[in-house]
Amino acid sequence: MARRTSEAAAAAATSSEATPFARLGIRREQDLALHLPIRYEDETRIVPIGSLRPGETAQVQGIVARQEIVARPRRALAVELRDDSGSITLRFLHFYGSQLRQFAAGNRVRALGEARGGLFGLEMVHPRYRVVDEGEPLPQTLTPVYPTVSGLGQARLRAAILRALRTLQWRETVPADALAALGLPPSVDALRAIHQPAPDTPASALHERTTPAWRRVIFDELLAQQLSLQRARAARAAQRAPQLADGALARRLLEALPFRLTGAQQRVWQEISRELATAQPMNRLLQGDVGSGKTVIAALAAAQAIGSGFQAAIMAPTEILAEQHLRKIGPWMERIGVRVAWLSGSLKDPEKKAVRARAASGEAGLLIGTHALIEDTVAFARLGLSIVDEQHRFGVAQRLALRTRLEAGAAMLPHQLMMSATPIPRTLAMSYYADLDVSVIDELPPGRKPVLTKLVSEARRDEVVARVRAAAAAGRQAYWVCPLIEESEALDLQTAIDTHAALVHELVPLRVGLVHGRLPPADKQAVMAQFAAGALQVLVATTVIEVGVDVPNATLMVVEHAERFGLAQLHQLRGRVGRGSGESVCVLMYRGPLSAAARERLKTMYETRDGFEIARRDLLQRGPGEFLGARQSGEALLRFADLERDSDLLDAAREVSARLLRGDPASVDEHLQRWFGGREEFLRA
Ligand code: ADP
Ligand code: MG
Repeated sequence: MARRTSEAAAAAATSSEATPFARLGIRREQDLALHLPIRYEDETRIVPIGSLRPGETAQVQGIVARQEIVARPRRALAVELRDDSGSITLRFLHFYGSQLRQFAAGNRVRALGEARGGLFGLEMVHPRYRVVDEGEPLPQTLTPVYPTVSGLGQARLRAAILRALRTLQWRETVPADALAALGLPPSVDALRAIHQPAPDTPASALHERTTPAWRRVIFDELLAQQLSLQRARAARAAQRAPQLADGALARRLLEALPFRLTGAQQRVWQEISRELATAQPMNRLLQGDVGSGKTVIAALAAAQAIGSGFQAAIMAPTEILAEQHLRKIGPWMERIGVRVAWLSGSLKDPEKKAVRARAASGEAGLLIGTHALIEDTVAFARLGLSIVDEQHRFGVAQRLALRTRLEAGAAMLPHQLMMSATPIPRTLAMSYYADLDVSVIDELPPGRKPVLTKLVSEARRDEVVARVRAAAAAGRQAYWVCPLIEESEALDLQTAIDTHAALVHELVPLRVGLVHGRLPPADKQAVMAQFAAGALQVLVATTVIEVGVDVPNATLMVVEHAERFGLAQLHQLRGRVGRGSGESVCVLMYRGPLSAAARERLKTMYETRDGFEIARRDLLQRGPGEFLGARQSGEALLRFADLERDSDLLDAAREVSARLLRGDPASVDEHLQRWFGGREEFLRA
């Protein structure tokens, strides 16, 4: 066992007081080894000051010619540094008395920073610097720069890491043949090469994390993730679920439907129906683009569960969506004699109590409601299937929480079906969803006309209003979506209210409704029902209508300040139209000037309707953490791997993971222990 450094030991002992080490997640000696650089700085060379170009990051060395506290452009300490080739100003906006002494004229100073053109020639603002003696040697290798927190400087952190590395003794957890096939070094060698790169290591490969050493560490990280998820999958497979094998009721529902399933729907229904009949708990993600018809699959699955003598629950992220499921699925279920209970936040307490009693007695076959209500408060008599709609709205941490609750102490697990309209790119699914099976509906119901997308500057708002009027004149309906203003929910609300008032006025005599997140659930439902029934021609909304809402007669979607929305949101919003047979249009109204990212998003929306392609670009723009919504939970999912760049390593990690789980449990434990320590729970989502 490696000797603890005093600092890591102190951090471990007092982690509740959050020492800087603890705040970095470093609790054990070995955590130091896995605290890897975010970048490197080149202190191995000194660049002549006269040859510096603006924008270049470099190290220079010279003699202090003079120092001065200047008042412009801001109060600052300006130090003129000279070498034989020229001079440069080091500028410090915050400085201490001690710095005035360090920069005494005649002192020799080494400074590293980005050179830029200042008022009086080249300057570096807040360079890293050191006072040195003549002839002081240069480091031979690139200097790693670590993520850190206040109270822990680079030098102290670096020293602690190097101390930990010297005594690090890790047994190799990855089979030698797998490493050889990938050309990867042993893990301890790799860590040393990352913390102290050899002098001949190409800097670009280090920065891009493509050296063999970096690839090894990335492989290990992916392996840890796969081990964790695959092990969770195996644990689940070892548990028992009710066999929901009676298909008669589902067949009756199929016959009662007003349409035939598409080929893709038939295929996924077969997959799901078959798995429900087994005694192993299903844990399946049903993916299908917006409007591909996932709801009917959920209804069929519920019918099979109920027909087999069990109960089912359908849970949605918002009241509006849950209500819509009730409206859509309720009548279908009625037709086949299933009793549906509806649990809504707007019910009075005695009514809620009655609904819970119906679930607890088994009288209600199907319970529909929001997650919060059902998960937290309902005890079922015989829950056989739990269906989670719009799963992507929940972070990985929430998925974990749900699973933990479902699994707590149950002798039998319900089957679980999750549905998502945000298609997850293949690499991401393989990575974060290694514990799930995935079914994909890759076909839209027939007769759908593609939605025409128009990008319109806000300056042409009048034309957009005229378009709404024209749609209404043709007997169609329109959505008008106001943006979410991140800083303030109150402002957000006010915008929607103002927009509604303006549109009521501009669109006389049309009937314009308003729905937003702060509306009491009952009012929300009333407005949505009016819109669905055609009693309102225009619906002004905040993003509460982003997911799932289904009103086929609505053929125009206007999104104001489209530049503020994310790609997934825009795709969802656009998916609210084009659901009937009419020609549909989505107007993305924007206000310039656009940031590069916003321009890219709008361009993507204009160029493609393919949800998978949009998801891929979204992932590229935002990275997996944000894409999956894990950011709220504050946990980085993969710290070093990049799923696009490292997809070959991901494939290999999956294979090695399966192999270790089959034959080498000691290595599995050791590997997970290294990577997650006490945090593995999180990844078992
Ligand atoms: P999503 O996958 O986005 O949840 P929905 O389940 O809301 O999509 O389906 C969108 C619309 O398409 C609904 O009105 C639904 O009744 C209809 N629909 C679903 N499947 C078919 C089908 N096979 N043929 C015709 N219409 C269908
Ligand atoms: Mg849906």
